[in-house]
Amino acid sequence: MLRRMKPISVILSSSRHHYRRGVTTWSPLTTAFNTRPEKRINFTRNEVGLFGVPELTSYEGFYALKEKAIFKTDDLIEEATSATRTRKMVTIFDELSDTLCKVADLAEFIRLAHPVPNFCHAAEDACISISGIVEKLNTHKPLYRALKAVVEGGDRMETTDVDKHVASLFLFDFEQCGIHLKESDRQRVVYLNDCILQLGQRFMAGAVHPRSISKNVLPEAIRHFFSADGDNILVSGLYADSANSMAREAAYRLFLYPDAQQEHLLSELLKARLQLATVCGFPTYAHRALKASTMETPEMVNEFLQTLNEQLRPRAEKDFAVMRKMKASECGANMPLAAWDTPYFTSSLKRTYLQASASEYSPYFSLGACMEGLNLLMNSLYGITLQNTEMAPGESWSHDIYKLAVTHETEGLLGYIYCDLFERQGKPNQDCHFTIQGGKVMDGDQYQNPIVVVMLNLAQPRWSGPTLLTPSMVDNLFHEMGHAMHSMLARTEYQHVTGTRCSTDFAEVPSVLMEYFASDPRVLRSFAKHFQTQEPMPEAMLERLCASKNVFAASETQLQVFYSALDQIYHGPASEWRGNGESTTETLKKVQEQYYGLSYVENTAWQLRFSHLVGYGAKYYSYLISRAIASWIWQTYFERDPFSRTQGEKYRRGCLAYGGGIPSRLLVSNFLGREVTAANLTNSLINEIDTFSERLQPPPGSVAGSLR
Ligand SMILES: [Zn+2]
Repeated sequence: MLRRMKPISVILSSSRHHYRRGVTTWSPLTTAFNTRPEKRINFTRNEVGLFGVPELTSYEGFYALKEKAIFKTDDLIEEATSATRTRKMVTIFDELSDTLCKVADLAEFIRLAHPVPNFCHAAEDACISISGIVEKLNTHKPLYRALKAVVEGGDRMETTDVDKHVASLFLFDFEQCGIHLKESDRQRVVYLNDCILQLGQRFMAGAVHPRSISKNVLPEAIRHFFSADGDNILVSGLYADSANSMAREAAYRLFLYPDAQQEHLLSELLKARLQLATVCGFPTYAHRALKASTMETPEMVNEFLQTLNEQLRPRAEKDFAVMRKMKASECGANMPLAAWDTPYFTSSLKRTYLQASASEYSPYFSLGACMEGLNLLMNSLYGITLQNTEMAPGESWSHDIYKLAVTHETEGLLGYIYCDLFERQGKPNQDCHFTIQGGKVMDGDQYQNPIVVVMLNLAQPRWSGPTLLTPSMVDNLFHEMGHAMHSMLARTEYQHVTGTRCSTDFAEVPSVLMEYFASDPRVLRSFAKHFQTQEPMPEAMLERLCASKNVFAASETQLQVFYSALDQIYHGPASEWRGNGESTTETLKKVQEQYYGLSYVENTAWQLRFSHLVGYGAKYYSYLISRAIASWIWQTYFERDPFSRTQGEKYRRGCLAYGGGIPSRLLVSNFLGREVTAANLTNSLINEIDTFSERLQPPPGSVAGSLR
């Protein structure tokens, strides 16, 4: 989720070769995913409804679903506030949340993914109705008082630590909306939340807006790099991959030129967030955002960023030295390295390592082979199989969806993963994971199995051959499947904390960990086979692929540290970014000097294009922390043997199983047997960077090689 900042390029399968169908040694899973999904004609007409929900045989069913949810909500409120209730408060709250989430999450997914407009509209209406109910619940004082009494004074039934933790999370959600404040303050919270939403939406729209300038501003030699609009030229991005350094520089300076409107929106947004935090009793917005996170406080985040920054600086400097050398050989010795060069030289050196374009790797990564690779891995780590399962008529929103049953060798069915993997008109161009139904213990000890969707945007398989993935698509597939398996393997008592429903700075740990598996030669060797010949990927190619994933890791990490630090300072005390009427750009300049190895470029305002400031406000550091923890888990448990069942079981029982059921900081330190400190987190990342740079042999004959 977090990492999806780059547009996903889609490589079409090399269709000139005929797919040899006579081969019979592929597994059924491989064959299923390597075969073009066919539209089936339904002769029986007995449709089961989307996801098997009986109401959803037609879009009108959303109305019935919503009505049912309202009735059930009323009953549960009555139960929670009754003097004679016989169930635990947290159980009732979780059922209340489950009732609303099941409609809201399903509707939200259908709204985004269903190809039929009537379904999208009905789903959108359902989303709006459920938000309306949630808003009403958030101001329901008797319900709030009933929960608060239990959190503060204990329930009348016996409760566990998990019960107490989950109840306090529900209470915190309640208080986020200001229900505990006096009426005028509560009104102010509602008003500020509305302002933040509006300012955020306008800022995000402005962040991607292309810049239009008169073409005379640009030297003639580079005009053709940009799209023309009459006498003007449109600059719609950073052109970071362009081999022409003048074009990169022009795009950087023009696209990032300070925009007064964006500056206004961002500073108003930050002000409104700070005011919101203050009304709710927090010193800063970051303090509010980080409550219940792994890092717990902004002070802890800052300590981590500073420690990591110090360790990274000399290592990133080495990366920049290599890049300077590369630039000198391309552009002449007197051209300094600048911010617009780093993505270009990073991908350039990656290509040098690969010694082939990413698409030459693709024949070894047919979708079916990759799914079989995931199956083998899940099987050896957890004793789980992924089985492609026939869907009933009406269960799916499109004909090209696969449904995987996730089955454990002794525990039986754990849940379902629907795979919506192919591009489709109108589908969001984003790789992501959706929870449709969270796992939870039901009355009578039954378990409500989780249901999730994994969404990618791969090319449709053709008649002539299967869908082939580039190495970065393989990483994305493993990443999203990591989220899905987090949902499958968390057997939490409450759906409110199941799988990915944990703190933002822990949610990416299982998915990032899967990227470590996808970057390991032993794992890749187990499934990377040519889609026509079944030949394994040649060893030399495999080694180069794994090496290419770690080039310039220090400077890339340093950039993430800089972004995270900027996000923390913007959401920290006002004095740090508005002191003496400072603009957000002046703050950027200071932070860049402190955290990044390349200088700020005058008259640019990169932060005004950084839309993650809206969605992740004060939590942009989450990806770095998730990576630090995932790397730590990898080094401790899996680096020696990525197929170890013993280690897989430990990871499942000691980490995944809890979801967000215990505070993630405690979860991580219990599982790793060490405190989650700035130093320990930094060590895991630095250790990884150092290990790879020792192993990384410079490509023979390359400019980078001649320096080292
Ligand atoms: Zn993710």
